[in-house]
Amino acid sequence: MAKKVSVKEIQTTCCYCGTGCQLLFTVDQDANKILDVHPVWGRTNEGTACLKGWYGWDYLNDPQILTKRLKEPMIRKNGKGSPLEVVSWDEAIKFVADNFKKIKEKWGPDSFLGAASARGPGNEAGYITQKFTRAVMGTNNIDHCARICHAASVAGSRQTIGEGAMSLSIPEIENAEVIFNIGYNAAASHPIVARRIVKAKEKGAFIICADPRITETARISDLHLQLKGGSNVALVNSLANVIISEDLIDHEFVKLHTKGFDEFWEIVKEYTPEYAATITGLSPEDIRFTARKYASSKHSVILWGMGITQFSQGVETVKCCCSLAMLTGNFGRPSCGTGPVRGQNNVQGTCDMGDLPDVYPGYQNVTDPEIQAKFEKAWGVKLSNKAGIQLTRVPEFVIHEKDPAKRIHAYYITGEDPAQSDPDLEEIRETLDQVDFVVVQDIFWNKTAEHADAVLPATAWGEHDGCYTSSDRGFQRVRKVLEPQGNVLPDWEITCRIATAMGYPMHYNNTEEIWNEMIDLCPKFTGATYEKMERQGSVQWPCWDKGHEDTGTMFLHKDGHFATPDGIGILKTSPYHPPTEVENTEFPLSLCTVREVGHYSVRTMTGNCRMLRNLEDEPGWVEMSLEDCDKLGLREGEIVKVFSKRGSVYTRCKPTERVKQGAVYMTYQWWIGACNELTISSLDPASRTPEYKYCAARVEKIKDQAWAKEEVARIYEDLRSRMHIVKEEVLA
Ligand code: SF4
Repeated sequence: MAKKVSVKEIQTTCCYCGTGCQLLFTVDQDANKILDVHPVWGRTNEGTACLKGWYGWDYLNDPQILTKRLKEPMIRKNGKGSPLEVVSWDEAIKFVADNFKKIKEKWGPDSFLGAASARGPGNEAGYITQKFTRAVMGTNNIDHCARICHAASVAGSRQTIGEGAMSLSIPEIENAEVIFNIGYNAAASHPIVARRIVKAKEKGAFIICADPRITETARISDLHLQLKGGSNVALVNSLANVIISEDLIDHEFVKLHTKGFDEFWEIVKEYTPEYAATITGLSPEDIRFTARKYASSKHSVILWGMGITQFSQGVETVKCCCSLAMLTGNFGRPSCGTGPVRGQNNVQGTCDMGDLPDVYPGYQNVTDPEIQAKFEKAWGVKLSNKAGIQLTRVPEFVIHEKDPAKRIHAYYITGEDPAQSDPDLEEIRETLDQVDFVVVQDIFWNKTAEHADAVLPATAWGEHDGCYTSSDRGFQRVRKVLEPQGNVLPDWEITCRIATAMGYPMHYNNTEEIWNEMIDLCPKFTGATYEKMERQGSVQWPCWDKGHEDTGTMFLHKDGHFATPDGIGILKTSPYHPPTEVENTEFPLSLCTVREVGHYSVRTMTGNCRMLRNLEDEPGWVEMSLEDCDKLGLREGEIVKVFSKRGSVYTRCKPTERVKQGAVYMTYQWWIGACNELTISSLDPASRTPEYKYCAARVEKIKDQAWAKEEVARIYEDLRSRMHIVKEEVLA
């Protein structure tokens, strides 16, 4: 007789992007093994998933392809340079708590910086990380990876319309009449959002795509504006110029719901289509056509991604996009508005939880005395009213700061890998080596862990409970699917143990207790209980009331009432300036970083999924125009070396008609072809987001390809042995 298997089905939210697709796991509970995963109905995905949703769970099996799961706490007992040694949790917690305490006493609260995770840990862990930073360490130096992606969206939107999130919902996209995608390729970053754009087109919407590359979105668009990289501000200013010059504005909306028109016009009046054409390389006719088309509908949507935010003028572009929507009255109704579509699964949530240097959870300013008093009462400690520093400024506060009293001395990194994800990696490595005490809390060995003084192993998505926020402000539950392997703990519990060891007891029995504490401190989230999430599947904030009648908010700024202090939107933009580092004789190409559809973030998760790894592997690709390849005598697949002022990497050449002559593109997931060895740490002055999308580079041919292949294989093996790969598991 066949053995009876104890099978359970558990629904959870995908861990790979802000779409928040719902997945159903079938699990053999006795064997603690996943039998099957498939998409089920959810508000944003309606029963569909992309390849990461279907195949991206394999890393839970620890197949050890790229790097190894962390399973025991480790510390350098004898200081920097000594080996990491496996210790008990008690010893590891005491070691971390003692060092944090020592540093705080010697250098003060602002010598600490905490980096929260926008990936697997979830909103409750995000709340705990910022509470630890503020209540225990006494500083607002808390941040997370929104800083390197959508911080410009938060800053630019908050300055104009008062709320730094998508104003509309993902399902509303398909009923828009005009969709203006700028710097956003949904097919690569949010494939299930891309389906909504396709559906909108099928229903008759006009699709415009502004992107220097012929992306999948450009291919399905009705008009592709193939503008010069780094010229976004000139384009959006010129669209505003046409809308105003041709009197296409919604006068009533502008009069009743906005201010700042005269100052706005003063800037954009210079950006005639003819002038903007000289900067963007577009035709004045296409600019005029786009402005007229966008302004022709009351269901026009602007969607953007990192193609506008990862520039030193990212905030300015966002401000002007919000202003375009205000000028044309495209807010406050279904299927219109602005959509900064967040990349990582919980980057919206980690912002919501206040893992930002200037706001508590629920976007409540740290400089507001009433808010400060509320959190002081709830947490029982005195809190700082000084905004903290952003994580992209860590090098500035370590290697470039001469005064030790002003430096960062302790860096607590949870679920992030700055030694792979941040710009100018040589500078990041030097920074990490000079910070007195670095703690890495993660699920995998990564490049940053090599610089850590303590490594704390956490549970992964699928091994703990909690909730994420989808890109369109939807709180959704994530659930434990498997029992974790190894001596690991949930992120929130590790942080609570450190806090308790430092003399500030933090005890919670489960994530719901943490959540309930948080929602009671955040008016916008108060109604979003676990019970409501279970019942509705998703609760979009604002949700003010716990009663059943308040089901959340589908779109923001109803009736033109903005989230600014006086409810009025502010029209804003800036003059255009070119990127910080442009092409020159030594580095004649512009380099832009993009993403790989089958991989995620720094690739520790998807790089350890056998199906996804089989699609693409190291050393990645550099996309180049056919003309540039011809000039250098390069063929597809050849290994080349790419240089910038900051370093060089090996990768493979991909000749393509998708990119313009003079521009090259690299995806940021590769560890050998790591484009961040080349990128520049020039920051947007308002959001401090790096200019990942533009720096000067050079590509060199390698004549001896046999040698190059061996060299890349040698680097890969060396890398994997540094990541403690003993033996890759064979695909079953
Ligand atoms: S679209 Fe995003 S959330 Fe949906 S399955 Fe793909 S990666 Fe997951």
